[in-house]
Amino acid sequence: MCVFCKIVNKEIPAKVVYEDDLIMAFHDINPQRKVHVLVIPKKHIPSVNDINPEDKEILGHLWVKIPEIAKLLGIDKDGYRIIVNTGKHGGQEIYHIHYHILGGEPVGRMVCK
Ligand code: AMP
Ligand code: ZN
Repeated sequence: MCVFCKIVNKEIPAKVVYEDDLIMAFHDINPQRKVHVLVIPKKHIPSVNDINPEDKEILGHLWVKIPEIAKLLGIDKDGYRIIVNTGKHGGQEIYHIHYHILGGEPVGRMVCK
């Protein structure tokens, strides 16, 4: 079972900021900005490349919840960045799809040179 499925199953701890039937949001263990939260579907979808039409409801729901989670974190007004790393060139390390929310301070250039 992957590390994020273990978090979903409460087999390993996480600092959870939001949870419902379909998704979970928790603080990244190695934050890259003042606020760094990961939003995941509870369903194990390995990457963006594995999204199926049947995932529309889950992932639509996830997007609807992102602004609510940003508000909970107090970063909605100043703004934030969503990143979804995909595959080797995208720098994906954990193959359970996850949406990074970065903020709490200026995030910087969109990509490093
Ligand atoms: P990615 O490179 O997009 O696959 O990002 C994986 C992210 O998961 C990294 O930012 C890690 O710091 C984070 N991470 C790995 N293990 C954990 C964990 N147990 N709890 C919270 N975040 C984690
Ligand atoms: Zn998983």
